[in-house]
Amino acid sequence: MSALAVNYAPLDIDIADGEGVWITDTAGNRYIDCLAGYSALNFGHRNPELTAAAHAQLDRVTLTARAIGNDRLLPFAEAVTALTGTEMLLPMNTGAEAVETAIKTSRKWGYDVKGVPRYDATIVVAANAFHGRTTTIVSMSTDPEARDGFGPYTPGFRVVPYGDAAAVADAIDETTVAVLVEPVQGEAGVIIPPEDYLGALRATCTAANVLLVLDEIQSGLGRTGATLTQDLSGVRADLTTLGKALGGGIIPTSALVGRADVIEVVTAGTHGSTFGGNPLACAVGLAVTKILGTGYYQERARTLSPILAERAKDLVAEGLLTDVRCLGLWMGVDVANLTGRQVSIRLAERGVIAKETHGNTIRFAPPLCVTEDELHQVMDALTAALRA
Ligand code: PLP
Repeated sequence: MSALAVNYAPLDIDIADGEGVWITDTAGNRYIDCLAGYSALNFGHRNPELTAAAHAQLDRVTLTARAIGNDRLLPFAEAVTALTGTEMLLPMNTGAEAVETAIKTSRKWGYDVKGVPRYDATIVVAANAFHGRTTTIVSMSTDPEARDGFGPYTPGFRVVPYGDAAAVADAIDETTVAVLVEPVQGEAGVIIPPEDYLGALRATCTAANVLLVLDEIQSGLGRTGATLTQDLSGVRADLTTLGKALGGGIIPTSALVGRADVIEVVTAGTHGSTFGGNPLACAVGLAVTKILGTGYYQERARTLSPILAERAKDLVAEGLLTDVRCLGLWMGVDVANLTGRQVSIRLAERGVIAKETHGNTIRFAPPLCVTEDELHQVMDALTAALRA
């Protein structure tokens, strides 16, 4: 028996160090990291600008209770809201906490502002979504693995098919406070909705006085070639959750950003977190906003995307893949005749780390500092793994 709980099924590889897109295991084998910490490492392992910001802050102060202020928190909030075209930020640590914060904020807005009868609030969510692992979040999950055995479940969610804006409109009634979806479903296998989906949701929510809440914890901060994936549709959500890459792969950092008049329903003492808004996380997050402010990584994701997409299409033509979905440097492929796990193991043997999301679906999300050559190495390894 191991002292470690078995809540993951990792590949049998122990990483000892990482730099940029490369990770090295304890035996000295090197791999291109296409997991990238589930997109928390968008700017690469030990990005020098981010580690410098962390080191500098480690030498000043790392944590202050929110009962007092710290000199990094407001600059962080100002920088993230400026970067994302939003008005207010509420800091948290993990993605699930940011989503919980969005749910609580939406419900409170529903009661205090919209006038929904107390505790009747409903939130429309999508099938096959992934928003985290808390009891309330698994209550809206349709994934039996995430959900079964963890009831009783939190009520107040209506689940509709993903990508179907008409189904969302049909599910809304006078109790509905929010529509909560991912702009692209990451864990489901990089599922890209119809082009007009977010625009249609925006129009529906505005007309029905319902909050549009977009979970950009995985899709945001450069991965799809824009700062936020909603930017690609010209949509601004009322509330957006951010996480993962906001902490640069160094420290858990998440946030709810959005309309001030909505987030203001959360008042002093009604919500919080010991570590949310800590100076170390804020210093790293601030450095992340500087990196993203240049647009460099967003542009790399856009211009390098066709290497993944085109080469994967060739594998579909060859009958080795049944489907490919690619946006920016984010790709989901469905493999024919093999399980995702088998292909992940074969990829690791060929120097690439990528992991199955479900069944025969594998997701590729390399750090955005990946080069053209390295992307070709990834696709060469995938081709060889599938043909083997
Ligand atoms: N939301 C989305 C879209 C995610 O992809 C994830 C994690 O994969 C989460 C929320 C949960 O984030 P965390 O694992 O940091 O709680």
